[in-house]
Amino acid sequence: MNIKKRLDILIKNAAIYTMDSENSILHGGMIGIADSKILFIEKMGSVEEYEILTEIDAEGKVVFPGFVNTHIHIFQSFLKGLGADHRLIEWLNLSALPYGEVMSARQQFLAAQLACMEAIKSGCTTLAEFFYTSQDEELAHAVISGMQSTGIRSVFIRTFQDTGEEYGMPKCFLEPVSTAMRKVDNLVKQYGRSPEDMLTIWTGPCVTWATTREGYEGMLEYCRSEKMPYSMHINETLVDNEMCERYYGKKAVDLLEEIGFLSEDFLAVHCVNLTENEMDRFKEHDVKVSHNPMANLYLGSGVAPIPELLKKGVVVSLGTDGAASNNSTDMMETLKIASLIQKGYHRDAAIITAGEMLQAVTVGGAKALHKEKTLGTLEVGKKADVIIYNPDQLKSTPMNDVPATLIYSSGHENIETTIVNGKIVYNKGVFEGVDEQSVIAEVKAEAAKLIKSLKL
Ligand SMILES: [Zn+2]
Repeated sequence: MNIKKRLDILIKNAAIYTMDSENSILHGGMIGIADSKILFIEKMGSVEEYEILTEIDAEGKVVFPGFVNTHIHIFQSFLKGLGADHRLIEWLNLSALPYGEVMSARQQFLAAQLACMEAIKSGCTTLAEFFYTSQDEELAHAVISGMQSTGIRSVFIRTFQDTGEEYGMPKCFLEPVSTAMRKVDNLVKQYGRSPEDMLTIWTGPCVTWATTREGYEGMLEYCRSEKMPYSMHINETLVDNEMCERYYGKKAVDLLEEIGFLSEDFLAVHCVNLTENEMDRFKEHDVKVSHNPMANLYLGSGVAPIPELLKKGVVVSLGTDGAASNNSTDMMETLKIASLIQKGYHRDAAIITAGEMLQAVTVGGAKALHKEKTLGTLEVGKKADVIIYNPDQLKSTPMNDVPATLIYSSGHENIETTIVNGKIVYNKGVFEGVDEQSVIAEVKAEAAKLIKSLKL
């Protein structure tokens, strides 16, 4: 008697955009998933040797690698619309900072569910949470637990601030770098051996105007000893350069280079204001970029030089940023805006292509998070983080060109199935293990309580 091999999921009859180094596309293909990985990607053929647990017929649909969101602040999902139409520092003082100071663990947990579910629904399989509210350890655990309940893969970036009161940074957010790194280390000890690489702990200073030189140096020492990548907001507005010039007599990038902060381990968020020479130095040090176009437009920060960075060979990924400056966690919206702002700004429709956007949200995201060996493309042996796109919506019909339809004519309603680590976490409007309506109801009640508590 032949014992059949187990296949957890078989996706058949699909158009498969692998995003591999040759950009291979397989029409009429099938993907076999077992033990969280891609076991095979082939033209349709016999699967008799397998015992198939779940079979998905993807006839007429397109399969992509799951999208990677390299920058979000989960707690802001409770703050949509607060501080609207204000400039960055005023906006921070009307939304993120005061409310981030008082949110409870339960509210942080719910914010994580809300943000991750919206992300999953729009095709995201991995996100990087940049955690910068009150650094009570219970809150970090609440966010992690909320993320985990949705089945999403994540990088939890436990950040720190050791100055910045003049810009409104709440005192309770501030801590010496030694305390911060000890707490980062506690998280690594608790979650560092996360099975299947579902959760990775990073750190980073929140922003240049809330970090001292000692802060950078202490963090770098820890990160180097732990081989841990780090992230920071940089040059989102001109405030970064103004502050660095005032205190250090040099611009932000110059200061960071001098300290040894510019490196392959640095994920630089925003980078709206970069000179040609600064971009060259990013390339030289292999700094990775997280581009957050929705937030840059919402806060009037400007347009990041993405075509220029891509031309220089800098790794560019995409982020939604927090939902108080977006105001959602929808990757599909981000893809469209990221492309259109460059075309308009440069007055050149050819400046960036749909294919480049797709590259940034898959391969670019995986590289930015140092996970390109396991994520970002659909290849045998890689983690099965996969999405199934259904073009049968009014908006996306007819699908004459697949990347163009995905980027310019789609919404989250086109994402039919999201698979993370070989498990279906979302399928045809239903989440596995979390009830969308219950989450919405509890978020509404808790958000009302939060807003009432401050009366700003
Ligand atoms: Zn941010």
